[in-house]
Amino acid sequence: MAESTMMDVPLQIRRLLDHGAGLHGGSRIVTATDEGPRSVTFAETGERAARLAGALQALGISPGDRVATFMWNNAEHVEAYLAVPSMGAVVHPLNIRLFPEQIAFIANHANDRVVIVDNTLLAGFAKLLPSLKSVRHVIVCGPADRSVLEGSGVGIHDYDQLLAAAPAEFAWPDVDERTAAAMCYTSGTTGHPKGVVYSHRSIYLHALALPAPDVFGLSSGDLVLTVVPQFHVLGWGLPYAAFLTGSSLAMPGQYLTPEPLARFIAEARPNKGAGVPTVWAGLQQHLDDHPEVDVSSLTELVVGGAAVPPALLQAYDERGITMVHAWGMTEMSPLGTVARPPAHASGEDRTRYRLTQGRFVAPVEARLVGPTGDIVGWDGESVGEVEVRGPWITGSYYREDDDEHFGEGWLRTGDVGSITPDGYLKLTDRVKDVIKSGGEWISSVELEGHLMGHPAVAEAAVVGVPDDRWGERPLAAVVLREGQKAEPGELHEFLSNKVAAWQLPERWAVVDEIPKTSVGKFDKKIIRTAYTHDDLNVTTLG
Ligand code: AMP
Repeated sequence: MAESTMMDVPLQIRRLLDHGAGLHGGSRIVTATDEGPRSVTFAETGERAARLAGALQALGISPGDRVATFMWNNAEHVEAYLAVPSMGAVVHPLNIRLFPEQIAFIANHANDRVVIVDNTLLAGFAKLLPSLKSVRHVIVCGPADRSVLEGSGVGIHDYDQLLAAAPAEFAWPDVDERTAAAMCYTSGTTGHPKGVVYSHRSIYLHALALPAPDVFGLSSGDLVLTVVPQFHVLGWGLPYAAFLTGSSLAMPGQYLTPEPLARFIAEARPNKGAGVPTVWAGLQQHLDDHPEVDVSSLTELVVGGAAVPPALLQAYDERGITMVHAWGMTEMSPLGTVARPPAHASGEDRTRYRLTQGRFVAPVEARLVGPTGDIVGWDGESVGEVEVRGPWITGSYYREDDDEHFGEGWLRTGDVGSITPDGYLKLTDRVKDVIKSGGEWISSVELEGHLMGHPAVAEAAVVGVPDDRWGERPLAAVVLREGQKAEPGELHEFLSNKVAAWQLPERWAVVDEIPKTSVGKFDKKIIRTAYTHDDLNVTTLG
């Protein structure tokens, strides 16, 4: 084989940092606060990242050590994203919404040495600290009563004081692009969380892919409202992509409920956004009730992490805001597919494409494996489990002998669906959520999508429950909009011209809310358990 003449320059986070802080030094990170948005430039972030690296080094952090964060989305969190990998250490955003025992399990499993904590999260963190075995230092961001941490035997520091005392420059090491740069744990609701370790190379390649027009379409003129938490798959990689393209970031901090989020949008005026459907659904309802809030800056919202309900897409269309549906997972950095319709599609065809999970983004490769283990064709009809491979897809879990999710060089995603000949993925379910009724599969996602199109329904979750005759049957749990009424019989009737009769749920429960996982997805396990324990008020239609 002939050798190429190309330079072998490693893809490193520190190059990405240099690029953003230098060439896009005027781009900004805008963070929501009680007193309105505050803003730092990428150039300032570059200097602060160097100071943070110096401070961490002075605390004894060396290449390969894990530095955790326990933070909202904000400018300091982005500084940690850039500084920690650039100095050769590994940034590990902890999911602040998990149960304390899970967080402790994760931090101990990852061997976190330092934790950077937001002051507003300090009280909860202080309770957790005694169970964090490997942590030697805690750095607190923002004014706080740090005495709650006293007696813990670890070093306690103030973030800004540490940075002020550190040199404004750092001699970044030349790390191998294949070494660890960051890690996240899956938010799975079954079993204990599993760790995924991203490399400099995987993060850099992923950051190069995000800005493409058919992907997230990011440019230096954008201000991107990053609602997806930085602890959820590295904020979908947006902070890194921002430093490559110069897109500014609008970080909502702890202001994630509809009212303050809407206010932040009105003040900061982002033109793009990224988040899970529940966040955008909450915002949509708030905007309906408060038409005076000015969100006219928004043009496009990326929605992923769970299937977008068709009615939500339509509601935003009516506001002149385009929702772009995307699919991925922690194991995939997370980008897998993005639903931009092909140029030839128009009218309803366009909408159909937009409601798929989207077209695979190179260099992600996919295949479908049917129930019998056969490879299933891409005909848009045949259904199988989606398997993927690529340079930003994990080939194993961190310190875990798991061969259930990996085989023949592919990652088994646990997602079930079909793929069209032109490469658009349409998910019908999770392997564990698909309802197996009398030898046929019923898609819970499809029923939920239809139900959430009913004017009285705010949210709907459909789960499979045991049934003597059919093995499993669908149970629909619905949350009604405030002041609205709808009887199960009416909802059943509403569904009846949308899906086949044998797919219609006979069991219905009207509930106050659908339980959510730590990252805002429906937690169906809790609904199933409530049903088994007779804790749901179920109406059964004859
Ligand atoms: P996480 O690792 O927490 O991001 O969860 C990944 C899982 O979320 C995927 O395997 C899917 O089951 C689900 N998911 C992500 N995006 C979508 C989407 N657009 N539509 C349906 N499910 C999705």
